[in-house]
Amino acid sequence: PPDVEELGRSTWTLLHTITANYPTTPSLQQQSETKTFLSLFGKMYPCWVCADDFRSWMSSYGNEPRVSSREEFGRWMCEAHNAVNVKLGKREFDCGRWEERWRTGWRD
Ligand code: FAD
Repeated sequence: PPDVEELGRSTWTLLHTITANYPTTPSLQQQSETKTFLSLFGKMYPCWVCADDFRSWMSSYGNEPRVSSREEFGRWMCEAHNAVNVKLGKREFDCGRWEERWRTGWRD
């Protein structure tokens, strides 16, 4: 079975990098494809407890994927990651800084 921690780090890198390269103004088709991707990701992620919890988080009130712009999608992914951080007792990440971490680079 996959190493859940290593798989997690690689997957968050992929997911946040996808949001960082998402269009600032996506077409309706791109938005719809992104929702399909997230829904299939939630079924195929090969850590089944992780996938089950991710799917139920995504389907709960207020946590539905927000894909109307890069800013919205990046924030949403950060919130999704924070939900897992909280579940695992890790520190929450400041979502005001997601773009600095994953797109533009830290400035310090
Ligand atoms: P990670 O949490 O992997 O984070 C990597 C880097 O991302 C961090 O160093 C930081 O720079 C940055 N980062 C941290 N938080 C955020 C944020 N909110 N927004 C943007 N950037 C951030 N593991 C389990 O044991 N049980 C689970 O149920 C579980 N569910 C998961 C569900 C999904 C969808 C994914 C992708 C992973 C899941 N994992 C789960 C793995 C877990 O989230 C971590 O990846 C793993 O524990 C390694 O953690 P880490 O401390 O190295 O950093």
